[in-house]
Amino acid sequence: MKCLITGGAGFIGSHLADKLIGAGNYVVALDNLSTGRYENIAHLSGNSNFKIVVGSILDEKIVDKLVDEADVVFHLAAAVGVDLIVKRPLESMTTNIKGSETVLEAAYRYHKKILIASTSEIYGKNVNGPLKEEDDRILGSPLKSRWSYSTAKAIDEILAYIYCKEKGLPTIIVRLFNTVGPRQTGAYGMVIPRFVVQAIENKDITVFGDGKQSRCFLHVGDVVDALSKLMNTSAAIGEVFNIGSQEEITIKGLAERIIEMTGSKSKIIYIPYDKAYEQGFEDMQRRIPDTGKIKKLIGFKPTIGLEGIIKDVISYFSKPNK
Ligand code: UDP
Repeated sequence: MKCLITGGAGFIGSHLADKLIGAGNYVVALDNLSTGRYENIAHLSGNSNFKIVVGSILDEKIVDKLVDEADVVFHLAAAVGVDLIVKRPLESMTTNIKGSETVLEAAYRYHKKILIASTSEIYGKNVNGPLKEEDDRILGSPLKSRWSYSTAKAIDEILAYIYCKEKGLPTIIVRLFNTVGPRQTGAYGMVIPRFVVQAIENKDITVFGDGKQSRCFLHVGDVVDALSKLMNTSAAIGEVFNIGSQEEITIKGLAERIIEMTGSKSKIIYIPYDKAYEQGFEDMQRRIPDTGKIKKLIGFKPTIGLEGIIKDVISYFSKPNK
């Protein structure tokens, strides 16, 4: 199959490219290299089953051509990371709404199967867990970047869903919970790469809030395995799936675990949310997915636990030039 991955030089996109090429597919990665990085796909240069096109999902001409040439589309390009969406809200909204609309319109024009990456941010402040796909969204003011981001991604989902129901376009929606692994950078807010780098450098570990908030982290390898299986499963069409882990840890607990595993001399410091992000920033206290639906359809089960994930990230950042 000829697979187009928008955001193919990003953290998740580049792992998906590896997975699909390993399974004998041809991959075209469309990436504007804003948060995506050439070094994520440098090892694929010269591979006859891979091509990188540097361009934006906002460029209708490029998107039209690449979607036309592809058999299937994995739409992963987006503005991601809480830090990035708080600091560059306009760019985030435009990329996530207009960009996704452009990609979906092209998929409709050429009737190409498309998988859309959405996010657990969809559930907003709903701390009831584990969260099921049909659970309520609980959001604050749209004037707060986090909730406008959640809304932008919800619009993507709605568009994909309606294209499927009304026009018969084969679309699949996935809601990615906290995903971690090699190639993820802490530059846009993600907590594990940040803590690991701080620990390796014996710098203060910056826990935001009181550290009692909790998350569940899934290894990127398990995520891309699920994405490629869903694309090959016809019963996934027209459906939405949570993808995440249920191994819960508080952020304070995470900081302590990383200090221990790196043998670091770092101390934990606590930074109020107002200082870490922006005035009035609201965090989710807890976020756990119910993954019963994807388990039932494709037998989804995480293969790497938190310990293995942290080890993998430590070894990635321990390499020279990282
Ligand atoms: N976090 C933190 N210190 C950091 C970066 C993040 O304490 O340097 C916290 C953040 O406030 C959140 C959790 O770690 O409670 C997960 O943050 P991340 O941005 O990785 O993911 P998300 O907030 O989207 O779950």
